[in-house]
Amino acid sequence: MIPVKANPKAPDDWRAQLRSAWRDPRALLEHLELDAKRFSLVDAGPFPIRVPRAFSNRMRRGDADDPLLRQVLPLAAENQPSQGFVSDPVGDAASRASGGVLHKYHGRALLIATGACAIHCRYCFRREFDYADSQITSSSLAAAADYIRASGDISEVILSGGDPWMLSNERLARISDALADIPALERLRIHTRMPITLPDRVDSGLLDWLKRLPWQTVVVVHANHAQEFDDEVDAALARLRQAGATIFNQAVLLAGVNDRLEDLHELMKTGFRAGAIPYYLHLLDRVSGSAHFEVGSRQAGALMDQLRRKLPGYLVPRLVREQAGAPYKLPIF
Ligand SMILES: *Cc1c(COP(=O)(O)O)cnc(C)c1O
Ligand code: SF4
Repeated sequence: MIPVKANPKAPDDWRAQLRSAWRDPRALLEHLELDAKRFSLVDAGPFPIRVPRAFSNRMRRGDADDPLLRQVLPLAAENQPSQGFVSDPVGDAASRASGGVLHKYHGRALLIATGACAIHCRYCFRREFDYADSQITSSSLAAAADYIRASGDISEVILSGGDPWMLSNERLARISDALADIPALERLRIHTRMPITLPDRVDSGLLDWLKRLPWQTVVVVHANHAQEFDDEVDAALARLRQAGATIFNQAVLLAGVNDRLEDLHELMKTGFRAGAIPYYLHLLDRVSGSAHFEVGSRQAGALMDQLRRKLPGYLVPRLVREQAGAPYKLPIF
């Protein structure tokens, strides 16, 4: 058991940590004792580097191939056009039901709570998504709740983004209040990377909000490598579990990050030790600028076969690919 400690930091300390996140790749590399000249860095334009120090603290100094560094460093490879890599690979533009709502799958509706994130992951589809006219605003929240209520069979709302926990606890309460009188609703799910990238976000106000929700709560975090867990992350996940949340982890299969058996094996074990049950292992969405992260589906299948030989069934993630128009995330193997 991981002892549950109260978070010693002041509420809202996470906001100060956001402000001090790395925003200059050269400064981050210097901090890691790496020579920037070894990398072909690129000006990342509208999706610049952003890395909280709580996350960079888990990077190894002097390691140019560090799996955490690789996820965040903008490289020239991003500017190479690649066949089949497009701006909306999963067809999200086509499934916008009402401002800020994506209703692709039966029984579940996804709310784009915000476009902002604490970290900018280079492989993310979000880098191309037009958030300005698709995230929930105060005025579209009522319409989103009406849409969900009128559908009658949506039993789960997923807060996603971006990262919904970039919103203040007050904004989160406004969203949950708007959903409170929908009879069919049974679960609230939160898709967030912040317990991993900025664990102090899991503050007492957030936990109070979670505990007061009238539904079962599911938190799906996102870590791609065992090295992303440390004592602070483990403690944040323990606080979430104590507040009643069931925690899963989803990961993306990424070349140079977690495409070896040992990496995946350690990720599943380490995540579970911290209380996060393996959920999906996603094949990369083929978004422009991410081709250098792609792992082919044959190699992915071979990795899954090897993982199954090593792990209990409940620690084996589901390898899936998202296909525009499909009724669920397609299992690959
Ligand atoms: C991934 C996703 C979901 C959730 O799917 P699950 O298989 O239940 O995890 C819901 N809505 C959208 C739009 C999604 O992309
Ligand atoms: S949405 Fe998730 S994967 Fe994408 S940049 Fe934000 S934290 Fe990273």
